[in-house]
Amino acid sequence: MEIRKFFVGDVVQMRKVHPCGSDRWEVLRVGIDFRLRCLGCGRVIMLPRPRFERSVRKVVSSVHPLLGAAEKGGAARGAAAAEKAGEGGAL
Ligand SMILES: [Zn+2]
Repeated sequence: MEIRKFFVGDVVQMRKVHPCGSDRWEVLRVGIDFRLRCLGCGRVIMLPRPRFERSVRKVVSSVHPLLGAAEKGGAARGAAAAEKAGEGGAL
């Protein structure tokens, strides 16, 4: 089971590549319609939510700290990274 939420400021990767060559989009607005800005060329588009959700491959970066960590491979990896950072700080 996958919980997928989108927030303004998230960067998502879409299944289809934009003609400019970028497949990454910043979420500008969420709701019934999603507004997205292409990170390659800056073009802004509107998509109905169902179409947006079908088109998204993955969330590249989420402004939501917990969801962002989950998309990057789980809490375990996040904890390991924190631990490593702690060691570095101690030295
Ligand atoms: Zn583009």
